[in-house]
Amino acid sequence: MNAHELLNHDINCECGRVHRCDIETLKIGEGVIDEIDVLLSKYKHILLVADCNTYPLCGDKVSALLKDKIQNKYIFNVEGLLVPNEESAATIDALVTPETDLVLGIGSGVINDLCKYVSFFKKIKSGIVATAPSMDGFASSGAAMILGGMKVTVTTHAPNVILGDVNVLKGAPTEMIAAGYADIIGKYSSLNDWKLASIVTGEHLCPFIYDIVLDATNEIRSLASDIIARDPYAIGKLMETLVVSGMCLTLNTNTRPGSGSEHHLSHFFEITGLIENKPYFLHGTDVGYSAIVTAELREKIVAVDNPTFYKISEEDRIACYKKIYHDYWSEVNDIQVKAKSYENDLTKIYLEKWDEIRTVLSECPTADEIREMLVEVGFDLPAFEKFYGKAKIENSTFFGKDLKDRYSMLWIYFALFMNDEQVKKILNN
Ligand SMILES: [Zn+2]
Ligand SMILES: [Zn+2]
Repeated sequence: MNAHELLNHDINCECGRVHRCDIETLKIGEGVIDEIDVLLSKYKHILLVADCNTYPLCGDKVSALLKDKIQNKYIFNVEGLLVPNEESAATIDALVTPETDLVLGIGSGVINDLCKYVSFFKKIKSGIVATAPSMDGFASSGAAMILGGMKVTVTTHAPNVILGDVNVLKGAPTEMIAAGYADIIGKYSSLNDWKLASIVTGEHLCPFIYDIVLDATNEIRSLASDIIARDPYAIGKLMETLVVSGMCLTLNTNTRPGSGSEHHLSHFFEITGLIENKPYFLHGTDVGYSAIVTAELREKIVAVDNPTFYKISEEDRIACYKKIYHDYWSEVNDIQVKAKSYENDLTKIYLEKWDEIRTVLSECPTADEIREMLVEVGFDLPAFEKFYGKAKIENSTFFGKDLKDRYSMLWIYFALFMNDEQVKKILNN
């Protein structure tokens, strides 16, 4: 599916819904930046935002081509990675004037999120000149911010302009390219959770969007060696798929098509890293490793012929939250209280549909298969296990789900394997 076929018109879908995603200007290919003055001809007062890592990649060229259409320019001078926090947002915000008609970022995740965030509250448009095919948030309306020291996804708007010049993208650091590839491989896990939710909780599943994501994921999987070799066609396809994946979230009006248990685990590593002031991997890297973990959990569930479900006490659960999430525990608890997840007993449905559930879970590629897909681009599972440690990874499988109000396979895993003994193990760790 070509991205442009999905854009800027109502899609009257076989699923009974009308889907729509608007992105004014989307162009991916070799030499796209050479046309930037034509592509952005309607804008006259552009605020250009980059950081000292991303600006050198194409900033001078963009500036030279847009000439006096650039009203102002800000390059964050940071050591290491730019943080999308209040301070960074305020810096951009202060440069917006009543004339500013576009906040144009040069970068990938963080710069795009900051531009979306500031432009949304200023009620102006935003755009991104991508410098790395590293994650699937380019086209999404959510801005991943760190506010009050904690990661929050703020609902903003999708960028009006997304440009991906393959000549720039193919020069991105290998770990960023591998992370983008892994973010897509994680869709095998998120799609499987979607299908599971449709039979367990009756959540709406759109076969049209499901197939777009699945077909795109299969294509990216087949291009692994070309992607890591920085073949221009393969890099362009990866970038396009990352954009399409974000568009599918808009088409489905939630993040379900692109974010399931594997994203809950990646979120867990990021949040606990922020809480404990410990490092974590790039988003897509965490998603890739987490997709191996969630595939292992599915295999453990599928192996159970006659399930017995446990229910730990609320007191024990809160004790585990406190142990894992420290001061942040009550916010995690609030998410689940609001979602009524623990009040809602799904045991009866699990027993009724156990065979059907196992059939769906078996459709996901195995942990070995996903590991192979990732090894091809340089992933190393023992390095991941060493980086986070076995205990933290195990905690993520039981309590990563609590960071979200979304159903996934993790809830079945919890009901099957979280017993009093496991509680003791977590609390004594
Ligand atoms: Zn992602
Ligand atoms: Zn549909």
